[in-house]
Amino acid sequence: MKMEEEILKHGLMIKRSLNKKIYTPINYRQRWFTLTRKFLIYYDTENEEKRKERGRIELELVHTVEVAIIAGNTEENRPQGISYPFQIGYQESGQDYILYVLAPTEKDRTEWIWAVRLACRFNKCLRGRYHPAIWNGKKWTCCKSSTRSTLGCENSSTWIAFVEESETNKENRIASAQSSPIMPGGTTPGTPSSKQKEKSSVIRSKVVVALYNYKAIEPGDLSLEKNAEYEVIDDSQEHWWKVRDAQGNIGFIPSNYVKEKELLGLQQYDWYVNDMSRQRSESLLKQEDKEGCFVVRNSSTKGLYTLSLYTKNPHPHVKHYHIKQNSKGEYYLSEKHCCASIPDLINYHRHNSGGLASRLKASPCDRSVPATAGLSHDKWEIDPQELMLLEELGSGQFGVVRRGKWRGSIDVAVKMMKEGTMSEDDFIEEAKVMTKLQHTNLVQLYGVCSKNRPIFIVTEYMRHGSLLNYLRRHEQSLVSNQGLLLDMCIQVCKGMAYLERHNYIHRDLAARNCLVGSENTVKVADFGLARYVLDDQYTSSGGSKFPIKWAPPEVLNYTRFSSKSDIWAYGVLMWEVFTCGKMPYGRLKNAEVVERVQKGLILERPKNCYKEVYDIMRKCWSPVPENRPSFRVLKEQLISVAQGLLVD
Ligand code: ADP
Repeated sequence: MKMEEEILKHGLMIKRSLNKKIYTPINYRQRWFTLTRKFLIYYDTENEEKRKERGRIELELVHTVEVAIIAGNTEENRPQGISYPFQIGYQESGQDYILYVLAPTEKDRTEWIWAVRLACRFNKCLRGRYHPAIWNGKKWTCCKSSTRSTLGCENSSTWIAFVEESETNKENRIASAQSSPIMPGGTTPGTPSSKQKEKSSVIRSKVVVALYNYKAIEPGDLSLEKNAEYEVIDDSQEHWWKVRDAQGNIGFIPSNYVKEKELLGLQQYDWYVNDMSRQRSESLLKQEDKEGCFVVRNSSTKGLYTLSLYTKNPHPHVKHYHIKQNSKGEYYLSEKHCCASIPDLINYHRHNSGGLASRLKASPCDRSVPATAGLSHDKWEIDPQELMLLEELGSGQFGVVRRGKWRGSIDVAVKMMKEGTMSEDDFIEEAKVMTKLQHTNLVQLYGVCSKNRPIFIVTEYMRHGSLLNYLRRHEQSLVSNQGLLLDMCIQVCKGMAYLERHNYIHRDLAARNCLVGSENTVKVADFGLARYVLDDQYTSSGGSKFPIKWAPPEVLNYTRFSSKSDIWAYGVLMWEVFTCGKMPYGRLKNAEVVERVQKGLILERPKNCYKEVYDIMRKCWSPVPENRPSFRVLKEQLISVAQGLLVD
């Protein structure tokens, strides 16, 4: 069987007629649905020998996959009994169609929606708006609009952001944008080659909305005002886009500070915190310590949302509520109060506790603002005159690290490289590449001061310092919060999965090389730096500074580094996290550790550590590198352990 014919999902559901011929009445028929990579096909029966195909949708044409509302009384022929409708919108030969399907259970509906979304995640035609309810021949029953072709009255769910490989998806879209940059007039230059490009002869200009304020610093940059709209003129560089504001000013902005208007979804609301974990939302809300303070976050079950609410009654604690959907697709926290959208539901509960521990009052103060890739577009050489050096944060292998302010406003950490400790020219070349690596769980490299000696490496500032010290300092409170420890591991794993996708090997992953920021964010630092160290004691596996305790057999034997050797080190890092910063192998000397590792002896299970978590560590310590999982797989496994162990 060809890959594209492989069946991704199948099942019996009820299909509403597409009503291509306007004058025939609507009907509902049971069909056997089959999803492949290219088509959603429906047959009259499951039996392969006898069945007849009744129709198919080319997935490339799909622009909407959402739940639907088909109220019982609006359609005479709708079958009796509870079912769970969803809709697949697509455009064929210039005509818009919506296929409505009734799934037998809510779980089936969610699974089908996600299976179709996954297959359509790279579609260029995805839309940001849709109608939750149906067209009854005269009007849309949701918004009562009588224009059939209106784009939709609801924002589509932000499902693109949830798709398993969201970064890959982004890269893919960036790659396609690079091959056809959008020009000021909204047209694409060059000759479009693929079928896809031929189809979209008119490309709408992309409009983005600012999620944060941003102050332009360099000439050529443009300031952003939170919630204002900007037209994208050039998004061919990944991290810095050229945009136009409402007054016609043009300049570069950091692309991670804006979101496409059509994909904005809940991101426009201050109370929405994306995929912040249960544990981090708890510590954030406890820190605020205000009655009724709340956030909405993605539940660990994909596609669902959770409301986390802080109350002082009867004692200060955080309650978590799943936002549920009924068969009509309406959202509710208590079945008595259903709303058409999540913002409506939040508004309702601002005025009525409606069964919650408290009325919803405020959301925590400003979301923390993400780091930009470099301090300005195309800037990685930083003028030391513009750096104000403040207190010392620590010192390490390469010298002293100090807190700093760049141009008096942006917090940075400045690593002052001891002379002779690294091959500087090679590193400076590499720094240009490293500033382009950007992920929430990687410490952002802003740039270098390379004109004078010692050279400075300027990075994002992380207020709580190294993860190792953080674990040791907070052992008392952390040891009883295994969920938070697991969450820290998941964050590191996400950052590492990003490096793995970019074929970037860390070579010195350990808790001491991760840093902790506000809201318990954990980020991986110092990636790739090990290659530029000149000190033999650090680089050779026989050296006294070599991180032997984090090294797998193939590194000890042949200095063979790979993403799989990073995986081994990651297993040791998990062990460090779950022991709250103990030294792996205790006081054993390096030579004794090597002997143990060669014999296949591994670190023991930390006290109180869940068996499921220790099983994952053990997978990282497989003696054969190929048998170790990838970070991508590891991430999925950790998330599912977290889901299984904790009530979300
Ligand atoms: P080296 O790589 O030279 O060994 P480190 O990166 O370990 O040095 O830094 C030494 C210490 O400085 C860390 O343990 C941490 O406490 C502090 N530090 C380093 N980078 C940062 C940063 N970006 N933000 C805050 N503190 C930092």
